[in-house]
Amino acid sequence: MVEAARGSGPVVVQKYGGSSVADVERLRAVARRVVASVQAGERVVVVVSAMGNTTNELLALARSVSPSPGRRELDLLVSVGERVSMTLLAMAIQDLGVDAVSFTGSQSGIITDERHVAARVLEVRPHRVAAALGEGKVAIVAGFQGVSRSGEVTTLGRGGSDTTAVVLAAALGAERCEICSDVDGVWSADPRVVPGAHKLDELPLDAGVALAQHGAQVLLAEAVERAREWGVRLHAAATHLPPGSGTRLPPGPAPAAALGVTADVGLVALELPPGPWRAALAGLPGGALRQLLLHPGARAALLDVRNLSAPPAGARPVATVTVVGRMIVAESDLQQVALDALDAAGLPVEAVYAAGERWTAVVAREHAAAAQRALHAALVEPAQAVEKS
Ligand code: ASP
Ligand code: MG
Repeated sequence: MVEAARGSGPVVVQKYGGSSVADVERLRAVARRVVASVQAGERVVVVVSAMGNTTNELLALARSVSPSPGRRELDLLVSVGERVSMTLLAMAIQDLGVDAVSFTGSQSGIITDERHVAARVLEVRPHRVAAALGEGKVAIVAGFQGVSRSGEVTTLGRGGSDTTAVVLAAALGAERCEICSDVDGVWSADPRVVPGAHKLDELPLDAGVALAQHGAQVLLAEAVERAREWGVRLHAAATHLPPGSGTRLPPGPAPAAALGVTADVGLVALELPPGPWRAALAGLPGGALRQLLLHPGARAALLDVRNLSAPPAGARPVATVTVVGRMIVAESDLQQVALDALDAAGLPVEAVYAAGERWTAVVAREHAAAAQRALHAALVEPAQAVEKS
């Protein structure tokens, strides 16, 4: 923890996603929200994403110049998006009469490895951020970027501003880390897919990790994992609502009852040829393997194809649908309820696997939405009803 960050008033890290700063009006609204926290006596570090669709536009621009742009130049280019929003936000906050200063990832002491485009944070030395807080200023940090030990600008992978916020919160010993977006927290399922979904006021961090790792979009899996590792108090909140609403993610195990359903629709299943495993697995695209699906006489690999230019020949589009809750994994009765619900909805299950606090079924991708609705109705809604009664 950095010395100068101590002093009066709790330190709070607030991260604002791209849609929260998509235009000047929204940027001003964020500035007002930050100032409200300052007036409530908090010392605020703000982490911002690039405005709206900026990152995609910069990447498209690069690809229009070159079909395979170098990763070092790509990192320098896309890091600009967050620098635009950080400086504009500092100006907007200053206009409200509150002192603010913005820093790049490098200036904030976010030290990463050398892996351009997908760098991992190794260490955080937020001396300048802490000094700014010590001087009573709001510190604004460009999300998604850092610097390698050799001084190169790196980026942390898509959505990486969440990670920036978590690692800074840990390094500063922040009281909490708010991830602010246009969604008002974490829901028991995506409400656009499952009309019966409800907002979760509290989500134990282990369950948050399981949801994020299995496709829930509100939180970046890496950020939630790091929050768990370093004991950061995460809070998923809506930018347009006052702090305190949203979902708290306190450290702790997933509850026994099923609390949520999520789907990962960026997957394919690929039958593996018979013969030695070494040869079968060597044929898979690097880094894509998520799970092996083994059945008597048959075997397949579940692959994440989001980062591949094209799925391997012969791959079938599939989705995983995951229920989070400890008992679903431990009790065969509940697994039977889940399988019956999928049967009753006419949704064939290709494979099932479970561990810890999550139970996952593999289904054809076109069945992902219906499978989420069926599992939510069969497992999450009854558990919620019991909790309420
Ligand atoms: N602007 C980056 C992206 O679009 C990082 C972020 O939004 O967190 O992926
Ligand atoms: Mg984003």
